[in-house]
Amino acid sequence: MATINDNYLKLKAGYLFPEIGRRVNAFAESNPEAQIIRLGIGDVTEPLPQACRTAMIKAVEEMGDRHTFRGYGPEQGYVWLREKIATHDFQSRGCEIDASEVFISDGSKCDCGNILDIFGSDNSIAVTDPVYPVYVDTNVMAGHTGDANEVGEYGGLVYLPVTAENSFTAEIPTQKVDLIYLCFPNNPTGAIASKAHLQAWVDYAKTNGSIIFFDAAYEAFISDPDIPHSIYEIDGARECAIEFRSFSKNAGFTGTRCAFTVVPKTLTAKAADGSDVDLWKLWNRRQSTKFNGVSYIVQRGAEAVYSDEGQAQTQALVSFYMENARIIREQLSAAGLEVYGGVNAPYVWVKTPHALTSWEFFDKLLHTVNVVGTPGSGFGAAGEGYFRISAFNSRENVEEAMARITDKFSI
Ligand SMILES: *Cc1c(COP(=O)(O)O)cnc(C)c1O
Repeated sequence: MATINDNYLKLKAGYLFPEIGRRVNAFAESNPEAQIIRLGIGDVTEPLPQACRTAMIKAVEEMGDRHTFRGYGPEQGYVWLREKIATHDFQSRGCEIDASEVFISDGSKCDCGNILDIFGSDNSIAVTDPVYPVYVDTNVMAGHTGDANEVGEYGGLVYLPVTAENSFTAEIPTQKVDLIYLCFPNNPTGAIASKAHLQAWVDYAKTNGSIIFFDAAYEAFISDPDIPHSIYEIDGARECAIEFRSFSKNAGFTGTRCAFTVVPKTLTAKAADGSDVDLWKLWNRRQSTKFNGVSYIVQRGAEAVYSDEGQAQTQALVSFYMENARIIREQLSAAGLEVYGGVNAPYVWVKTPHALTSWEFFDKLLHTVNVVGTPGSGFGAAGEGYFRISAFNSRENVEEAMARITDKFSI
């Protein structure tokens, strides 16, 4: 009889978004005239940049001509794309990253999970709370945790709470952990990390022989020149950090699919016999075996992000969403709410008033102004009492939602 991976049974059945859907549908059924505005989704809304579309159309035509047709590409991605990334995203910021250390993939979400393939099952793992759920669930699936308790915390994981009290930056742990997930600019809190904060993490990792998984999916939303875009802007990070990047949010590639992971050749971790093993070699082996590369057409689309037009067009997209974020921040503050984030990140993190729970606030917003957001408690126990509003939406929806809150929402 075939058996299953029992770790999957430990997963809390995808609770957050189905529950939001259930409550919104129930409300819509009893209030069919209500015009509901969804500001809860972490997906982009604006169309692909022209430069990316033009490059992909040309690539499709090349695939239709036997002289320029391409079959399997390199599993690591085409060199022309890896070089543009290394030069533009890293070397131009003073980070010593070589094209050979950049691995193109079809998404950061999958890479965040897949990376666990090359690590042992005995590592201690730290995540912030609240957190992007993928980091936790992939560790549950890999058997790195115990069962979940009633607030959804899994046994065996080290949770680092981030709240207004610590300015949404986790304290460096006092105990030793082997793998640490950091996401800056942060989803869901919209928090950013200063150079000093990241330096403290890198120093900790180097002292303890830990590896940092640095998720920089939202780096394009940073406007403050003092905030690092990459962990490799920090001294020593080449010895302790893997970075995940994506074209999903800066260039609207959520449906097109292209991302990359940086694994420096200077990274090592311990084998069972105590020897140091190169992580680059293991990741290269893993990708060459389990992955066959991203479509040529999509990689040409991603390459176009680095052209002059592509840069101008992606910057325009980012500015558009950040103007939404500014409107949300200002209007919610004017309505008397305590708001965080939304300055160098496309998420605004709201403190629920009068000690309402995240779900009570969700219901109140839905029922009084027909606006949907995401309850903070869905991202972790320490997210209780907070609420996420996404800037990924049309200007019209953002303005209408904020006007309703200003007019009708009383705190
Ligand atoms: C959107 C997002 C990503 C990007 O995932 P893709 O699979 O590349 O679309 C990665 N990390 C976080 C925290 C995100 O919110």
